[in-house]
Amino acid sequence: MDSSSVIRKTAADLRLSPNLADYAGERRAFAWDRARAELIGLPGGGLNIAHEAVERHANGPLRDKTAFRFLARGIPARDVSFGELSRLASRFANVLRQLGIGKGERVFVLAGRIPELYIAVLGSLKNGSVVSPLFSAFGPEPVATRVNLGAGRVLVTTDRLYERKVASLRDKMPTLEHVLLVAEDGGSTNIPGTLDLAALMAEASEVCEVEPTGAEDMSLLHFTSGTTGTPKGAVHVHGAVVTHYATGRYALDLHADDIYWCTADPGWVTGTSYGIIAPLLHGVTSIIDREEFDAERWYGILQDEAVTVWYTAPTAIRMLMKAGAEIPRKYRFPSLRFIASVGEPLNPEAVRWGRDVLGLPIHDNWWQTETGGIMIANTPAFDIKPGSMGRPLPGIDAAIMRHREDGTVTVIDEPDVEGELALKRGWPSMFRGYLNNEERYRKCFAGEWYLTGDLAKRDADGYFWFIGRTDDVIKSAGHLIGPFEVESALMEHPAVAEAGVIGKPDPVVGEVVKAFVSLKQGFVESEALRMELLGHARKRLGAAVAPKEIAFLPSLPRTRSGKIMRRLLKARELGLPEGDLSTLEGGG
Ligand code: ATP
Ligand code: MG
Repeated sequence: MDSSSVIRKTAADLRLSPNLADYAGERRAFAWDRARAELIGLPGGGLNIAHEAVERHANGPLRDKTAFRFLARGIPARDVSFGELSRLASRFANVLRQLGIGKGERVFVLAGRIPELYIAVLGSLKNGSVVSPLFSAFGPEPVATRVNLGAGRVLVTTDRLYERKVASLRDKMPTLEHVLLVAEDGGSTNIPGTLDLAALMAEASEVCEVEPTGAEDMSLLHFTSGTTGTPKGAVHVHGAVVTHYATGRYALDLHADDIYWCTADPGWVTGTSYGIIAPLLHGVTSIIDREEFDAERWYGILQDEAVTVWYTAPTAIRMLMKAGAEIPRKYRFPSLRFIASVGEPLNPEAVRWGRDVLGLPIHDNWWQTETGGIMIANTPAFDIKPGSMGRPLPGIDAAIMRHREDGTVTVIDEPDVEGELALKRGWPSMFRGYLNNEERYRKCFAGEWYLTGDLAKRDADGYFWFIGRTDDVIKSAGHLIGPFEVESALMEHPAVAEAGVIGKPDPVVGEVVKAFVSLKQGFVESEALRMELLGHARKRLGAAVAPKEIAFLPSLPRTRSGKIMRRLLKARELGLPEGDLSTLEGGG
């Protein structure tokens, strides 16, 4: 890494004093039990996510402050205060109680980003039930598979989604007793075998005691993105709220007056941990947009809602880049003070694009469904090394591990050596199991270390660099090649909007590197451009690492959470079965 490309931060870059101004000091002083002591806890000593996120503020000075501002095309924005959110969540919890749904029982939500989704999640948590939000774009099979795996007793959805995605497989979901419907036109529903949620809510009391959950009680069930294979159901507990709180402070730098926008859907863990819970914990106002990606709309929201902290994903940033530089020129972002991204490696090109177009570099951070919260991050106070995912947050011990031939793993102490990224157990939001897959869960641990399945290295300054998933790393002529490095180099070319790189079996060198690229607006594919890209990559990466083949695609296959599905590029290239496509964007 060329040190001249480090983005140095000065006091002038910071509008507010960053919460993690003293990285070394906070890491030294940090203890999870002290972080927990900043939460109020339940009267009997228990811990409940919804109680911390909503009740605390609903009964205090933030009662009338806007918690969520729901945006949708064609209708006025709807502001819901902390007080109202508490009352609505209580009504929902009482609806569950009346149906006989109690602690530990599973509630699934299949809906777009409508207010009822948020109310159902928080109400379920208040009730001590376990909640699992699903992407509304899932087809019938993925919905049924997840409800069955999680033994769902309740499903909250809309009348239209029910008819399109649930009704046909309803009798294949034996545990599912109650389906609660939201009428998409705002009226009431009357579909046999279902209940009208609005009617039940209207009759339910808006007062309810929070179920006395403990830190180890199950709270949320999240399915992984399915990037590398069939999605796994990760079990989370109420104690995770301590991580959500600490990381909201350190990694998202939330301050009391922020207007925060997390673009992730709650069907993916980011949309729940950071789209619902963390901002509420900090008493911050969140923007929730029901619509799908649209470059004009997104720049418009950043400007018109005066968003201060924006949490998004590389795929969205690449789509904005692809849409061109003209659109953002029509907008101004004077309120924006911090931008973070998660989900995939953030190409250095994208980090710098943020600085050029939005006035701020983009801060990458790393975590997984399994970790429940942000583990490694670039925070506002850190200098950014573009391409690095940052440093471990206070309370998080990260290491690079070597796998030895005898099956054991050891920590690699020297910097700049590649190995598997691991985290020391003990952070509160660590997953507590894969649903119905104890064996796989056990295999994720080696002694006190959780093995993430990602390859990375740590530099001498303690910054972590993502190499690739263990499954995606390419072995070519004795070299280990991470797709990210190759993709980032291709993205430096002005014509390239996104790139996905795979290893293609080769009798001589083991695997050869093949790249798939999609082009930015205004560029057309041609043999000349292909040769130019091959040459560009060779110059940047050297012949051993550069792709030998490049193919153009209009867009790359990606998961609904926005990750390039390299396994699908590979399966298609090699004519192999495509595997689980339940999370494929545009599929399902
Ligand atoms: P599956 O486990 O089903 O294959 P998935 O791993 O993509 O899917 P998630 O839990 O949503 O499911 O994603 C976590 C993974 O995303 C990480 O393990 C890592 O590979 C990748 N990731 C997340 N953030 C970053 C980042 N900042 N840089 C690089 N990779 C990232
Ligand atoms: Mg994974």
